[in-house]
Amino acid sequence: MLNIRRLSANAEGFREELDRLLAWETVSNDSVNDIVKEVVNNVRQNGDAALLEYTERFDRLKLNTGSELEIPNARLHEALEIIPADQRTALELSAKRVRDYHERQVQNSWTYEEADGTMLGQQVTPLDSVGLYVPGGKAAYPSSVIMNAIPAKVAGVEKLIMVVPTPDGEVNNMVLAAAAICEVDAVYTLGGAQAVAALAYGTETVPAVDKIVGPGNIFVATAKRMVFGTVGIDMIAGPSEILVYCDGKTDPDWIAVDLFSQAEHDEDAQSILVTQDAQFADKVHQSMTKLIESMPRKPIIETALKDRGAIIVVDNEDQAIEMINIIAPEHLELSVDDPKALLPKIRHAGAIFMGRFTAEALGDYCAGPNHVLPTSRTARFSSPLGVYDFQKRSSLIMCSAEGANELGKVAGVLADGEGLQAHAASARYRVKD
Ligand code: NAD
Repeated sequence: MLNIRRLSANAEGFREELDRLLAWETVSNDSVNDIVKEVVNNVRQNGDAALLEYTERFDRLKLNTGSELEIPNARLHEALEIIPADQRTALELSAKRVRDYHERQVQNSWTYEEADGTMLGQQVTPLDSVGLYVPGGKAAYPSSVIMNAIPAKVAGVEKLIMVVPTPDGEVNNMVLAAAAICEVDAVYTLGGAQAVAALAYGTETVPAVDKIVGPGNIFVATAKRMVFGTVGIDMIAGPSEILVYCDGKTDPDWIAVDLFSQAEHDEDAQSILVTQDAQFADKVHQSMTKLIESMPRKPIIETALKDRGAIIVVDNEDQAIEMINIIAPEHLELSVDDPKALLPKIRHAGAIFMGRFTAEALGDYCAGPNHVLPTSRTARFSSPLGVYDFQKRSSLIMCSAEGANELGKVAGVLADGEGLQAHAASARYRVKD
């Protein structure tokens, strides 16, 4: 039988075992920290020269000048022309659906007026420029181009700068075609910490941006954490996760491949099945044992399931919900008859896939919602990447003479209380009575 932890939520020591299973420190490795610090500082000081050095060392791509790092815009459009028609159609359809979904997230400015004529409000503006990190070390991710670029475009960001590593100089035409469809302004063949540093500080070739978004490996995540403050970042993404809750009535093969779909991302990915039907748990385990043989990424899936996977048998639906809220998964599948009835009880999950027909993989590519989601239990306090990540807010205050009079008195008292005389004077200079 395929090697995966089998747990019972009522067994002694279960909670400790669950805590161990969920423990994951995204950026914990001192040696990675040291490497990234050196890379970031070198790029900050030496600009293009450092980028060329690291691109040769880490991506085995030798370039001679900074300008060669840019993939010309014409090449993006050429990629769009040369990819197979079904790939182009799928990319365009995905982009359209993701755009339609994200257009509903746009936040608008608002104001209101008080009785004395004072106006208060909030002005919403897009960020000026954004860097999109598209991973490309071990695999190419055209879907990540769409998921990162479209919300930025919908928000109205003027400048979209994309970086993507091209190991051994091999560009992925679907990635470039996606960049053309999303109207990305410039693409640089750069990856890892050096790409993040270039976007944060700028070099002779790469412009500095205001915020860096997009997933990546531990070098990328560590660099994003390091440059945060100089630029904004979206989140620190850990390995992918899925939790499937099933009442025991779905085809076990469907559940098995859904669990594989995240496990195949990398050896640290996490796939968990929660069910109250112990016999169904056995059936899914058998399906996994049978279907693993047909998976090209079998070694990665096996390692992920052995090290971080689990099948958890609970007593009832309430206990399953409790489990979901503790685990706060990135992806949650509710494979039950009436998923809508469960929604009010679910407090923490990055994305919720409702009903037996909703495979998580649809959300990865084309359903519409974003696939950049909070991992490692951060769904307790954060949300999917969205248009709101590319918009910011300024507060608005416009006092009438009467309003300044009244507020000036109040502010003066509070400023006196804080011992800030200039504040008090400033507030009171406009007070007439
Ligand atoms: P990547 O682009 O994140 O990293 C490649 C870069 O890492 C290289 O260009 C190199 O600069 C750097 N690097 C590699 N080894 C190094 C070393 N020893 N020292 C210094 N730098 C080094 O590509 P990847 O490695 O394939 O990782 C992509 C990650 O993104 C995966 O974990 C994948 O699961 C994740 N991902 C997440 C999502 C999501 O939406 N959450 C989507 C796609 C991919």
